[in-house]
Amino acid sequence: MLTSILAKSTCAACKFCCSFRRQSLWETPIFDEETMKKLQELYPSAKFRPAGNSGHSYTFDISDAYKTQDPEEEALCPFLDPNHGCALPPELKPFDCKIWPLRAVQHSEPDNSKKLAVALTPTCPAINKVPLERVRELAESGLGQQILDYAASHPDIIKESSEFLSNIIYK
Ligand code: SF4
Ligand code: SF4
Repeated sequence: MLTSILAKSTCAACKFCCSFRRQSLWETPIFDEETMKKLQELYPSAKFRPAGNSGHSYTFDISDAYKTQDPEEEALCPFLDPNHGCALPPELKPFDCKIWPLRAVQHSEPDNSKKLAVALTPTCPAINKVPLERVRELAESGLGQQILDYAASHPDIIKESSEFLSNIIYK
């Protein structure tokens, strides 16, 4: 979450981005191999699966956490403390989570070329109450370039742009 424009108390009451329906599992955050191995030691019951194309990235596997066939059922991130929020220290928290509700995407330009860009997800209820100009200012103050630089060196975090991820705020 973007702590500079989202209140921790708001997120503590929400936790939307730390729980996932089956159709949202593509959004689970990416861990590098070193972090994944540290988390395996700290949380032996957490399961991981490979993610992305590099062969060096992982995400948690909560596919067997669902109790019903209801597509609306949410399964929690294994690192979410329901009472206190994310249990991970900053050095183990995935970049994806630090920048949510922003995402690095491959954006299609009018000439059909692809360009790395930063998109705003539409599902965070709190960011939708923040003026879009404020989010753009934050991106333009350095965060947008930081996300593009990180994505260039960690391409497994890059999502395909889609109608869902069409609100481009920095490129
Ligand atoms: S969805 Fe938005 S408001 Fe909810 S926890 Fe995530 S960042 Fe916070
Ligand atoms: S790692 Fe932390 S911030 Fe990210 S989804 Fe899990 S509980 Fe939420």
